[in-house]
Amino acid sequence: MKNGDVTAIFGEKVFNLPKMRERLPEDIYEAFLKTINEGTKLDFSVAEVMATAMKDWAIENGCTHYTHWFQPMTGLTAEKHDSFIQPTADRTVIMEFSAKELVMGEPDASSFPSGGLRATFEARGYTAWDPTSFAFIKDHSLYIPTSFVSYTGEVLDKKTPLLRSEAAIDKAARRVLRLFGKTPSRVVTYVGAEQEYFLVDKKLRNKRKDLLLTGRTLFGAKPAKGQEMDDHYFGQLKERVAAFMKEVDEELWKLGVFSKTKHNEAAPSQHEVAPIFSTANIASDHNQITMEILKKVANHHDLYCLLHEKPYKGITGSGKHNNWSIGTSDGENLLKPGKKPAENVQFLLFFASVIKAVDDYSDLLRVSVATAGNDHRLGAQEAPPAIVSMYLGDQLTEVVEQLINGVGVKYEEGELIETGVETLPEIERDTTDRNRTSPFAFTGNRFEFRAPGARQSIGGINIVLNTIVAQTLTEFADALEFSQNVPKDALDLAIKTFKEHKRILFNGNGYSDEWVEEAARRGLPNLKTTPDAMPHFKSDKSIQLFEAQGVFSRLEVETRCEIMMEEYNKTLHFEMLTMLEMAKQEILPACLKYTKTVAEGLAVKESLGINAPNERKTVKMLTALTEELMDKITALESATNIPDVDEFEVGMYYKNTVIPAMDLLRETADTLESVVGKEFWPFPTYTDLLYSI
Ligand code: ADP
Ligand code: MG
Repeated sequence: MKNGDVTAIFGEKVFNLPKMRERLPEDIYEAFLKTINEGTKLDFSVAEVMATAMKDWAIENGCTHYTHWFQPMTGLTAEKHDSFIQPTADRTVIMEFSAKELVMGEPDASSFPSGGLRATFEARGYTAWDPTSFAFIKDHSLYIPTSFVSYTGEVLDKKTPLLRSEAAIDKAARRVLRLFGKTPSRVVTYVGAEQEYFLVDKKLRNKRKDLLLTGRTLFGAKPAKGQEMDDHYFGQLKERVAAFMKEVDEELWKLGVFSKTKHNEAAPSQHEVAPIFSTANIASDHNQITMEILKKVANHHDLYCLLHEKPYKGITGSGKHNNWSIGTSDGENLLKPGKKPAENVQFLLFFASVIKAVDDYSDLLRVSVATAGNDHRLGAQEAPPAIVSMYLGDQLTEVVEQLINGVGVKYEEGELIETGVETLPEIERDTTDRNRTSPFAFTGNRFEFRAPGARQSIGGINIVLNTIVAQTLTEFADALEFSQNVPKDALDLAIKTFKEHKRILFNGNGYSDEWVEEAARRGLPNLKTTPDAMPHFKSDKSIQLFEAQGVFSRLEVETRCEIMMEEYNKTLHFEMLTMLEMAKQEILPACLKYTKTVAEGLAVKESLGINAPNERKTVKMLTALTEELMDKITALESATNIPDVDEFEVGMYYKNTVIPAMDLLRETADTLESVVGKEFWPFPTYTDLLYSI
């Protein structure tokens, strides 16, 4: 980018609305707009014209291939590229792209996790074009965002259920809005995902098998300088980092991502990038693109981007704050507290619906952020606790308390009920008094869910959020649709909801031990690890919810749950094996070599009659620690005998047996690192990694 004018490059690589308007006949363009704005079914004839226009644009911009781009349950994205070539009779080729190729693809589904769905049904999987998320160009291919479903229509991805959950909340919210005389054509959820990540010098990273294979350090003694100095957050950007961020921004803008904010984060070498919010589906696609671009651009600068939730022990991990709100196609944010009383009742009802949803289904929210990586963050004193609670901000806490206590709300005979709410302050976005320890905070016009892990697709999180709020809104609509006095009954319902779900509200320090005890008294679940949380996903209550809202069938929940558990188990399996390999092939030889060197030096001195008692002690100490290391290697090795039981029990085995053995091995290895000579240590240390750039 030569000058600073972002408009000149924004969306350059996207087949967006201006390009469509330019290249499509007017009636086709209008029909397409109707589909994306109102969710009407797309006519095949529209797809035909669209396919040709897309292909022409893609070829003009250097593309030879196209790919359906989808989001299987791995949480990553998948692509299979086909070229546009089509043979002709005279044995040359023409470039073609049919409507059928645009609308449907048939990748081999057998290599993607399906939790047994394939065995039950068919190996085939289909991808289906999502016209609401625009096609884009990357590396000479035209990328077409798609859903991924099995032959019989069961979802195999993260996009399809997200779209279903958007439809569910749309339906429920419009029922509630009708009570207030409002009939927007659509209600949508908006998401802004703040993405945290670490950068590390690529050459150093490649010297560490753990970073290479698992994305996090499995060993590493505490560095002399950790993050105690608090000098990195919002600190000056280093030149190399600034150059990297500039390129990231430019790439994202070209791909139509509204990249807005970038800064240094709390830990050394930790950074954040955040876009301006968009609808949940687009935000989710854009977040996947963002993660890909971070990785790709890092490479150009000899850097490596670590998206793992906990790359370094003892150093703040990386999360993804999921800012979430709900609004109408008319541009009304339903979580914005308004001035007018009637609108306030409406706000209170939507506000209450989120509070009730989070309390009723806090276990599902915990499940939505449950991964092996994120388990290192949640509850680790520097990230949201594993207990889900809500913080409403000072002003709304007061409002809710007043309503619960009946203060400021006048119920006198004949008086309009709305007067009570007139006292509500107009609340502007409040950035000053936020409780950073809360996993789920109201921040003026949206909720911020801070528990998601940095590497996670935000698809799963927003599927749960949308579905649980759709459920409470449905219940509210059921309760109020026959009301003769909606403002009064709605306010009563909101107050009743606040009273019933007060226990989920917590404004104190979420990291404290007192909160753990208090939460237990309140009956809030404290699901510390993924194996603890996961069974809640397939509880009867959960399945009923997802079925009622048309988001997942029982089978889809069960298979998805199994896949997530399998993912956890596989992650730990790799970590365990990588740890053993590093311990046996790298750490142990280094310790033996160093001990030998010191011992030989000592022997020489003693043969000369020189007394070196401290060296003698050091050799003894090194020998003892190395022996200990070997014992712990043996212990972890015996833990590799994974019992032949179901995925959930295997998960418990990893949690109860393998992880403790890994922790013990690490403890000894890290102690050794701090006493073995630096030049003997087989890989870069924390200081090397964290201060490499
Ligand atoms: P902070 O770090 O102070 O929490 P940021 O500015 O880094 O805030 O990020 C806030 C995120 O919230 C941005 O992605 C922003 O676009 C998003 N956001 C703002 N308003 C809304 C809203 N109404 N709905 C959803 N997301 C929103
Ligand atoms: Mg931020």
